[in-house]
Amino acid sequence: MNNRLYGNLIFELSQEGRCGYSLPKNRFGNYEVPASMRRAEDAQLPECDEMTVVRHYTNLSANNFGVDNGFYPLGSCTMKYNPKINEEMAALPQFQNLHPLQPTETVKGAEAVCALLCRSLCELTGLHAFTLKPFAGAHGELTGLMVIKKYHESRGDVQRTKVIVPDSAHGTNPASAAVCGMEIIEVKSTADGLVDLVDLERLVELEKENIAAMMMTNPNTLGLFEKQIPEIEKLIHKAGGLMYYDGANLNPMLGACRPGDMGFDVMHINLHKTFSTPHGGGGPGAGPVGVREGLEQFFPEVSPYHGNFAVELRALAYILTLGRENIKMVGPLATLNANYIKECLKDVYELPIDTICKHEFVFDGLKDKSTGVTTMDIAKRLLDYGYHAPTIYFPLLFHESLMIEPTENESKETIDGFIAVMRQIAEEAKADPELVKTAPHHTPIGRVDDVLAAKHPVVTYRQMRNEE
Ligand SMILES: *Cc1c(COP(=O)(O)O)cnc(C)c1O
Repeated sequence: MNNRLYGNLIFELSQEGRCGYSLPKNRFGNYEVPASMRRAEDAQLPECDEMTVVRHYTNLSANNFGVDNGFYPLGSCTMKYNPKINEEMAALPQFQNLHPLQPTETVKGAEAVCALLCRSLCELTGLHAFTLKPFAGAHGELTGLMVIKKYHESRGDVQRTKVIVPDSAHGTNPASAAVCGMEIIEVKSTADGLVDLVDLERLVELEKENIAAMMMTNPNTLGLFEKQIPEIEKLIHKAGGLMYYDGANLNPMLGACRPGDMGFDVMHINLHKTFSTPHGGGGPGAGPVGVREGLEQFFPEVSPYHGNFAVELRALAYILTLGRENIKMVGPLATLNANYIKECLKDVYELPIDTICKHEFVFDGLKDKSTGVTTMDIAKRLLDYGYHAPTIYFPLLFHESLMIEPTENESKETIDGFIAVMRQIAEEAKADPELVKTAPHHTPIGRVDDVLAAKHPVVTYRQMRNEE
């Protein structure tokens, strides 16, 4: 593909007088648009022939990278497995053409989908009831915290407004607590990446009857299993608080253990991560919230109807196609793939916490720091080899975080290919650091200024003709 030939903007391809489409002759007589509603001058639209338009947009669309183009080892907010059959299910006209205001007796099938999904999620998590209303993970967090708030209020415990959040948590955790009108208390992590129990005991002693809840992500944002959940759960419950489980990335837990059995009271699941649904560009999502028995009466009305139905359909299709036995393989395979990559690369990449991980793990840049090659450079160089970059500079616990999640569904050949390229880049960093520092070299656009677009967004195109 040659982008220069087809231009970056359709306006740049415009040739005065060129026409790609002509309207049929007006058969209805003239209708006078009132002068007050008419333009003072002609709209300046690009003038292009049909093939130029088609090629321009076709070539632009080919610049997208997605799970259907190649390996996508993005940690934390991963695009996990998105089986094509799920898309077929979500596209069935019998579902797709439903209207949310249809009489309920005409949507019994859709109701059954929602009910079966809730029942499946209860079984997978060990919780008692689910609401499908939240539209995303963060929305689920807010919903879950609203449940917790109402629960305490129902007991006259109105002073319980503080939420304990580990410093390794996803940024949405403290943000959701703040939106819910709660105060955040940060608990430290130990050097091995887990919740610091000593710090937690100190905080609980300090805040006692002000504690509304503790929010935990497990496996945490470093991909590590929080081994001290039994101790933490006892501590928080004894103080009168509730346990909240951020289940955005539940895939490593499937078939291994259940938040309900670990003593959690409220949780959310990101259906668009763990239970398929491609969600690039910020959507679509669904963040159902589950609670233990006795809390379902506190579910708030956070959205009309039943949330994002097409995402729910994909989730149910995913659960049913795998079935009760195969779904137990998801967690072990996600864990195996991540550990395999970690072990194959830890001699050349810095592994700050060298232990068994779950579905993802974090490197702290290259092991050899003398090359000056950063995590950013490595991520950019990966694009040259046709890979989506891993998550970089998150979590904030390390300077050069490189967070890799392969997911459960990738073949050994794909994973070995990625490992070989990561080793190749480490070699390049030693032999020719400039090559890596100036990457990418083979993408339509080279290295961009990270902040310029945010600081000085250019959202309109100024016509050359106007300026002249
Ligand atoms: C993605 C993610 C969230 C937020 O989910 P959204 O659907 O993006 O709002 C929360 N917690 C964790 C651990 C996540 O990975």
